[in-house]
Amino acid sequence: MAEQAQAPDTSPRPIVPYLRLTPKPHLVGSKCSCGAVYLELKRLACSKCFASGPFPEIKLSDHGKVYIFSVVHQSFPGIKTPYITAIVDLPEGVSVRATLVDISPEELQKNPKTAFDLPVELVTSVVSKDREGHDVIGYAYRPCKH
Ligand SMILES: [Zn+2]
Repeated sequence: MAEQAQAPDTSPRPIVPYLRLTPKPHLVGSKCSCGAVYLELKRLACSKCFASGPFPEIKLSDHGKVYIFSVVHQSFPGIKTPYITAIVDLPEGVSVRATLVDISPEELQKNPKTAFDLPVELVTSVVSKDREGHDVIGYAYRPCKH
């Protein structure tokens, strides 16, 4: 019986452990019984009530609000500037640092107040390819479309 060559697994991979791609891209966190939520999945202790982990994983909302942002004009070689970096508050009580897309950095600098509390939604895109040929998936937020 001839053995069939297995096709190499080139399925997409998330850029960070707290980004899950299926069934639909979403972020996950961990939640202490006191209600504190963390992006870290292997947190050893809760900083609010000092309970020790590990804590159960929860799915985080794909919608949030911009808490604060900055327009970045200088970055690493190969990173296109300007871009908007932001801290997005999620309804679960956790904050996520991410890039804002579908907003002009130049326009935002002229009208910065338009971004505070702006409702945003999670989007993902291929940001690179790893050595084994997997697409690497990154995440960002864009203004809500509804
Ligand atoms: Zn706690």
